[in-house]
Amino acid sequence: MLLTISTTHRPATDLGYLLHKHPDRVQEFAQSFGTATVLYPEAGEERCTAALLLEVDPVRLARRLGRSTPDFSLAQYVNDRSYAASSLLGVALADVFSTARSGICKARPELADRAIPLEIEIPVLPCRGGAEIAHRLFEPLGWRVGATAIALDERFPEWGDSRYVRLVLTGDVRLADALSQLHVLLPVLDESKHYWQGPDEVDKLLRSGGDWLAAHPDRTLITRRYLGRRGGLTRVALARLAELDEQVTTDGVADADGAAEDVLQPAERRLPLNAQRHDAVLQVLAELGARSVIDLGCGPGQLLDRLLKVAGIERVAGCDVSARSLQQAARRLHVDRMTERQAGRLELFQGALTYEDPRFAGYDAAVLMEVVEHVDPPRLAALEQVVLGAARPGAVVVTTPNREYNVLYEGLVGMRHPDHRFEWDRAEFAAWCERVGSTYGYAVELWGVGEADSTHGSPTQLAILTRKETTTDD
Ligand code: SAH
Repeated sequence: MLLTISTTHRPATDLGYLLHKHPDRVQEFAQSFGTATVLYPEAGEERCTAALLLEVDPVRLARRLGRSTPDFSLAQYVNDRSYAASSLLGVALADVFSTARSGICKARPELADRAIPLEIEIPVLPCRGGAEIAHRLFEPLGWRVGATAIALDERFPEWGDSRYVRLVLTGDVRLADALSQLHVLLPVLDESKHYWQGPDEVDKLLRSGGDWLAAHPDRTLITRRYLGRRGGLTRVALARLAELDEQVTTDGVADADGAAEDVLQPAERRLPLNAQRHDAVLQVLAELGARSVIDLGCGPGQLLDRLLKVAGIERVAGCDVSARSLQQAARRLHVDRMTERQAGRLELFQGALTYEDPRFAGYDAAVLMEVVEHVDPPRLAALEQVVLGAARPGAVVVTTPNREYNVLYEGLVGMRHPDHRFEWDRAEFAAWCERVGSTYGYAVELWGVGEADSTHGSPTQLAILTRKETTTDD
């Protein structure tokens, strides 16, 4: 099994820094099912290629599986695992390039953060559903896809094509994204899964795919294939992805596998929680009569999009610490096509909420929607001071998950999103609001968003903090 990654970014040998593997060396990495080798067939100024070679030991693989699967058939030993890129390659890739996949590169931090010209080739890839599926999965992620079916036997063309394709992906993509996409999508394309999955698979999927999967038009297909026919896990994953992106609703209905009905339960057909949260925040802002609003930790800009559609709001700002989220927001809002007047109404900037910044000040209302739980608890006091002490908007609308409600998410282990540092129950959130309210002079009102459970409350908690005294510059 072979996968190559090439770049023409100059100097192309920077690929070695990004992958954390030196171009001059051949390195081996033991896997539980065989050996992964990384080497560079070419490493020049203009083009550099890293190859990941995976040698699978079918006997070891079968032994490893034997413990957890009831299948003792010969197929365990005689199969295509040694020859065809598969979910095993996805696993090896994630292991061997784990630092690169997390986007960390001390030597070339800027390069690790941005899209570079990449070409990825997998000479033999099992592709359930044929070449068309490869196009569907990779093209929405910005790749040009070459997927050529491989003949069953070159000497007998009348036998037709095999179920394998030669895959070539080209595009300007961030390397860490490319690796996480391959990690998720190789097993999705593959015919057979090689291991049983536990409930933490949902977390793994969200960690790998959180950013791009939520917005992928074939999200349902990917999630279901990745998690197998375990309907419960798939539902949890889809519900949580819906939290990350607004446009979930019924996108699974026209799914290729035609089995979306068993995935989307009535709960998912209701207005997604994400959309309910937007509605609630907009309603609060309308009641407050806010004419200028800053969305702190705006993410990919879904709320900004809606704020800009409210006629009574004259000025809208969005800030986030993540440059990538801001790029997504700019794309969503079509900043490049705005008239001067539209552009004059919007401010989009990078900033960290734990550092005082004059650009946060001067708004009627600030929104902190699903942001506080992403901040490390020791840094939360800094955020409180920056927002309520220094920026001092007329009101702050805060939303955050209600941890008590988590028991109602079937199969959820841990928190709702892998990046959450904590999730508060209702008493903890109320106590936090009271404390910051009294420290900084804000009145507190608490609400719930989403259908409330009589015991566990609403899925989302919402607080309105209203400044008590007016400051001189108001
Ligand atoms: N408000 C958006 C995004 C929520 S996800 C929504 O509800 O859809 C949390 C966002 O907070 C992420 O985009 C993350 O980049 C941002 N964030 C986390 N810590 C931050 C900090 N210290 N400063 C600024 N933004 C931060």
